[in-house]
Amino acid sequence: MNFWNLPPVVLPDRYETLRRDVRAFLDEELSTGGFVPHCDQWLGGWDAEFSARLGERGWIGMALPARYGGTGAGALARFVVTEELLAAGAPVAAHWIADRQSGPGILRYGTPEQKHTFLPRIAGGQCYFAVGLSEPDTGSDLASVRTRAQRVDGGWRLNGTKVWTSGAHLAHVLIVLARTEERTDDRHAGLSQFIIELPHPDVRIRPIRLLTGEHHFNEVVLDDVFVADARVLGEPGSGWDQVTSELAMERSGPERILSTFPLLAAATDHLAKNNPRTDAPGFGAVVARLWALRQMSLAVAGQLETGAAPAVAAATVKDLGTRFENLVVETVRLLTRLEPDHGSNQEVPRMLAESILHSPGFTLRGGTNEILRGIVAKQLGVR
Ligand SMILES: Cc1cc2nc3c(=O)[nH]c(=O)nc-3n(C[C@H](O)[C@H](O)[C@H](O)COP(=O)(O)OP(=O)(O)OC[C@H]3O[C@@H](n4cnc5c(N)ncnc54)[C@H](O)[C@@H]3O)c2cc1C
Repeated sequence: MNFWNLPPVVLPDRYETLRRDVRAFLDEELSTGGFVPHCDQWLGGWDAEFSARLGERGWIGMALPARYGGTGAGALARFVVTEELLAAGAPVAAHWIADRQSGPGILRYGTPEQKHTFLPRIAGGQCYFAVGLSEPDTGSDLASVRTRAQRVDGGWRLNGTKVWTSGAHLAHVLIVLARTEERTDDRHAGLSQFIIELPHPDVRIRPIRLLTGEHHFNEVVLDDVFVADARVLGEPGSGWDQVTSELAMERSGPERILSTFPLLAAATDHLAKNNPRTDAPGFGAVVARLWALRQMSLAVAGQLETGAAPAVAAATVKDLGTRFENLVVETVRLLTRLEPDHGSNQEVPRMLAESILHSPGFTLRGGTNEILRGIVAKQLGVR
């Protein structure tokens, strides 16, 4: 079997028109102070008003059909919009998880009532989701989650603790993976997903601060939380397959390459102005690598558009892409010789500081690089 069936994608002209529209919008936003560019904004740039402005333009929920408020424009159109937003350092964190995975997950597995309740609000950029997978002793090995859901009259009672839950303190909805049946030899059986609307009196959310001091993710304690049957996502017991397909969407996008792109762009301008005759060794190689990775990520989007699930290619893009994001930081630091400074009014020192402090998470979030290499090895039959 060919696991690397990844035909290159050449975007037709209509996508270039879309790209121009997004760039014009971003130029307008920048010139009117709509946002200030930062690195890693899909993680840290939470701006509900900006998300709503994108929603008004039909640039959220592009994978959702019109009857649920989306545009049905597809994976390639979404790729174009998201790569422009990321490259500009725009604040997209609020709607990111809902747009990327929770909306498509509800579309695929949800009941008609769940679709009508959540999808139009997601597409409007007005409903944000958090994902409760990781636990204190369970990150990479998700099948060993300890959060339990017990059957009760009319629904389920959930108890357990989740950690690193991005945006749970601001999200409207948390999707929790919990064990609904005793563990058997099949470790992946007996898991289910639950939709919990926030805030909830029995859900305690406490900050876990980033190195920067930012409040991005959380510890989430579920203390006998009642979840009605109507808020089970998909079939009870099918949680593993659902989460796996969600992770495929989570791993392959341009955000796994472009978290530090605003720094690269700012450093290019800085070097052009301040060292016009310096032949910056290494810089060209970085840009060439970026282009190759971008073409790979685009090709994965092309596969998603056809309904395929290119797991090996997605894992490879994320492994190479997140290491590239770190390479950008190191290259800019060495070439510009500027001191990282969070409080600087110059872009390069400011973005250098924010990138350095965010960089430990690049190769961890969404599945560590060791786990991704394990997936590739397994699919290739060498493990
Ligand atoms: C910025 C950020 C945001 C996050 N947001 C969320 C979120 O919103 N929701 C959520 O549920 N989680 C979230 N996470 C958690 C993330 O998914 C986990 O950190 C990640 O899956 C690793 O799990 P862990 O931290 O428990 O590490 P562990 O699983 O304990 O791993 C520790 C180390 O051992 C290695 N390792 C583990 N197993 C193997 C193996 N089988 N083979 C080889 N090496 C192995 C790992 O690669 C890692 O280097 C977030 C993490 C970060 C950094």
